[in-house]
Amino acid sequence: MSPTDRYIVRFVESFPTPLEPAILYVSVAYSTAGHLCACGCGGEVVTKLSPARWRVSFDGEISLSPSVAATALPCNSHYFITRGEVDWRRPLSELQTNRAQIADRRAINDHRAAFPRQWWKRLFHRRW
Ligand SMILES: [Zn+2]
Repeated sequence: MSPTDRYIVRFVESFPTPLEPAILYVSVAYSTAGHLCACGCGGEVVTKLSPARWRVSFDGEISLSPSVAATALPCNSHYFITRGEVDWRRPLSELQTNRAQIADRRAINDHRAAFPRQWWKRLFHRRW
């Protein structure tokens, strides 16, 4: 899979499997965005939309902020999606990666507590 330098938005209720490259899926129903990592590794990046986590804005083009740090993926990609364009940043340092992973784990745990497994199943249309 080749790297993506532009995303278009698709507003969906739940994410398809597999996700398609170069599309930023936004589920309003589940307050979650998902996309395939911009580096082309094929990794899924799922970002919870909340005041404490990520937000999307749509002005004809989609933006996702703050930056995406794919610390759960081997590629360790780090980028912003601003008005559809991928804006690459330097990979996080090991210390930053560790901090981000701890924060992500905490967010996911909070999230799991708030949304049981069934919720993820519905979001992804997956049979787990
Ligand atoms: Zn990647």
